[in-house]
Amino acid sequence: MIADPAAMSAWSEAARAQGEHVALVPTMGALHKGHLSLLAEARHRAQRVVLSIFVNPMQFGPQEDLAKYPRDLAGDLAKAASVGCDLAFVPEAASMYGPGFQTAIDVREVSQGLCGARRPGHFVGVATVVCKFFNIVRPHVAFFGEKDFQQLAVIRRMVTDLNLPVEIIGLPTVREPDGLALSSRNAYLAPPDRQRAAALHAGLSAAKTLAEKGECRASVLLEVATTEIVGRVERIDYLEIRAADDLKPLETIDRPAVMLVAAFVGRTRLIDNLRIG
Ligand code: AMP
Repeated sequence: MIADPAAMSAWSEAARAQGEHVALVPTMGALHKGHLSLLAEARHRAQRVVLSIFVNPMQFGPQEDLAKYPRDLAGDLAKAASVGCDLAFVPEAASMYGPGFQTAIDVREVSQGLCGARRPGHFVGVATVVCKFFNIVRPHVAFFGEKDFQQLAVIRRMVTDLNLPVEIIGLPTVREPDGLALSSRNAYLAPPDRQRAAALHAGLSAAKTLAEKGECRASVLLEVATTEIVGRVERIDYLEIRAADDLKPLETIDRPAVMLVAAFVGRTRLIDNLRIG
């Protein structure tokens, strides 16, 4: 494990000097099988696999769960080693945001709406920290989950716009048998809430099935999903259909699309999405 950013860069430079490809899997820890699927794919594609674990204060709002976000460093290191990860980079917040820190990356359009509307500043925090990780770790390739679909779109846009020399690979969402997307925040769910949480995927799936039968009106697909979800969750935060590439809103499914949902189950806010059309 390395905590010091300068030591991390030196490690990476040494690997690069030997002609090795370096892969990065950025996470906030509390690893589950979704994270491990990213590490396993990274293992296939690069000689060196770096996992970063950092609960990034810059992407949490003042009322959010920064202090109580689940942490399990020892467990994470064991799980990462079990899938062949070479190194965990676990910096302190003080070494990522030193005195006088004041720079932020704003991926303006893709960050709008959806989680960007509900969590002001969230994607600025994500883009900034991911860019910092790219500069510190200098990976050839980095892996992200489609589970956080808007985040992946923000990172792809940032990499293109800023000419960052890293390949971005997005991987499918790993789910529980009942469809619930694995998430570190699922640990917050009490047993009855855990059962109801499957409603999100059930709603998305119902819409996808209808779309596969030829329904292309977004309003109809959203209604089907809403009917499935509402009543089983405390509150739907958003439920929308967007274009899969640039996340522009769609009224008709005439190009690859994605349905995205955020909802409160008990007091836990969960997100999920499914490609349709
Ligand atoms: P997090 O630790 O929640 O910030 O997630 C770290 C990375 O793991 C992000 O790229 C997520 O999109 C990805 N990830 C989280 N949950 C899943 C999942 N269920 N399946 C696949 N990837 C995931």
